[in-house]
Amino acid sequence: MRLADRVAVVTGGGRGIGRAIALAFAREGARLAVVSDVEPEVQSVADEARGLGVKTLAFRADVTRSEQLGSMLESVRGRFGRLDILVNNAGIVEAGWLLEQPESSWRRVIEVNLIGTYLATRAVLPQMMSQREGRIINIASVYGRHGGFGFVSAYVASKHGVIGLTRALAAELGTLGYADITVNAICPGYIRAGMGIAPQKVRDRDGDVREIPGEQLFERYFKHRVPQRRMLEAEEVANVAVFLALPESKGVTGQALNIDGGFLMS
Ligand code: NAD
Repeated sequence: MRLADRVAVVTGGGRGIGRAIALAFAREGARLAVVSDVEPEVQSVADEARGLGVKTLAFRADVTRSEQLGSMLESVRGRFGRLDILVNNAGIVEAGWLLEQPESSWRRVIEVNLIGTYLATRAVLPQMMSQREGRIINIASVYGRHGGFGFVSAYVASKHGVIGLTRALAAELGTLGYADITVNAICPGYIRAGMGIAPQKVRDRDGDVREIPGEQLFERYFKHRVPQRRMLEAEEVANVAVFLALPESKGVTGQALNIDGGFLMS
């Protein structure tokens, strides 16, 4: 129970990687707020976490709406009296060749992945500053440090932005004397969960577009690029989040950690 006295908020906690992180925190004894835009999913993960013996709050909020994030913070404070860990995991992917993807779609990806991370961080930081300690863990992607495959410029740009925000905020907090609030990014590679296994559109050389399940896509196009030759499990990402959340990890800040079976070696 390495997080027994901690309170964590996980955005996008209703399924996929966010669910795995929420449950891993619960297993370490953290009290939890599971937050996403899908009410039944946050309720279901909150129930699972309660089954592990921790106090849990389910909260429906859209990370692009600062007033909803403000209400979420008030509920967390009201229920638990503190907030130690924020995991900015909520994210979407919408693909398309840059000249064809509608501007509204390009903007939506930036809005959820990057601006949502900024807004949730801005909502919780004053509470962490009053406690003089905290952990902000941003779920970026290997596509935050790589150009990506398959027409995902908005997603790639958003995740590069998340890594930039991570580094800048870690530096700013140090300058302001809040060095014990750490800010780090996790860069998952191909994960057997969530958007990693969702069907994706693939364009052939002759221009035909087909939908292929994520696992098939991995087998066909990406496996040979990954030294471990496998998709990783969501729990392996959650394990890195737990590591970053631990009190004894306070020396790690401004970092972007790849968890990708060796796909990127930096
Ligand atoms: P997912 O689609 O299963 O989960 C995304 C979560 O974000 C869901 O709970 C969804 O409800 C929530 N969400 C989306 N838009 C939201 C909004 N506006 N407000 C609040 N919540 C919102 O996908 P996942 O694969 O579990 O992705 C989780 C994170 O991991 C994302 O940031 C994603 O970019 C990142 N990631 C995933 C992979 C992968 O292979 N699965 C790889 C690299 C990075």
